[in-house]
Amino acid sequence: MIIPQKMTAKLADFSKLNQRYGWYRFDLTSPAQLHNQAGQYLMIEVGENTMRAYSMCDRPDLDSSFEIILDYRPNGIGVNYIRNLKFGDQINCLGPLGQLCVAPEHGDGRLFLLATGSGMSPLHAITIDQLQLQQTRRELYFFWGANNSSEFFWLDDFQDLQKSFPNFHFIPTISDPDDSWTLERGYVTDQLRGLELLPSDHFYLCGNPAMINSTIDYLCRERGLDKTQITTEQFSAPASR
Ligand SMILES: Cc1cc2nc3c(=O)[nH]c(=O)nc-3n(C[C@H](O)[C@H](O)[C@H](O)COP(=O)(O)OP(=O)(O)OC[C@H]3O[C@@H](n4cnc5c(N)ncnc54)[C@H](O)[C@@H]3O)c2cc1C
Repeated sequence: MIIPQKMTAKLADFSKLNQRYGWYRFDLTSPAQLHNQAGQYLMIEVGENTMRAYSMCDRPDLDSSFEIILDYRPNGIGVNYIRNLKFGDQINCLGPLGQLCVAPEHGDGRLFLLATGSGMSPLHAITIDQLQLQQTRRELYFFWGANNSSEFFWLDDFQDLQKSFPNFHFIPTISDPDDSWTLERGYVTDQLRGLELLPSDHFYLCGNPAMINSTIDYLCRERGLDKTQITTEQFSAPASR
């Protein structure tokens, strides 16, 4: 287990991904290196005695920096703190934290990653880690749900990964599609309905509680999966103040 530690880092890069999301890279100033597992998060100090959790979306071997995806929509103290940072500004944080990681006790079956919104962030880290670093041969399915197509980003990158890794299957789906959308429609849970599921499958769910609760309900009640086959992380409520 990696012990969480206090860290400082400075904002090194930023880009607005679309109206709803931004990408931020922070370079560590102290300590010089962060050792984390793909899927973990950090607590960032966003005010006096106020912390917010943000998952790392980047490959875990990039030890001297970390990257996050920020959903601007909650627009509270955490979002505004990060949004107002300038290049070179220093932040205080604590980490790595969290259990949303691919673990040996989850077996060696297929991996199903289901995300809504910025819940894709830790699952992106897991995808890159599994495909590029671990060079897994396991089948890896990534379902990413959004309300409409304008909320998606990095679709070309995911599609390139699909071309490079035949065991990777990327399924973006939207609940409120416009006519130009030619891919999957509906909630991420709907995409599981036609699939044959196996006792060796493991599911990683990240995002809003509604998606997580309805997917657990569907998998366990309707498809007979054991809860030990599912690992979750909810993004909605602040993890600590
Ligand atoms: C383990 C964990 C990992 C997380 N990782 C990320 C991440 O990678 N990227 C990211 O953008 N956020 C992430 N979050 C959410 C993040 O920690 C904050 O809760 C979020 O940024 C809102 O903080 P705030 O201070 O701006 O809003 P607050 O002042 O806390 O809340 C403002 C309003 O928005 C609502 N709200 C709070 N959070 C959300 C949300 N996620 N979606 C919709 N409404 C919300 C509140 O109920 C309130 O009405 C994560 C949360 C957890 C628990």
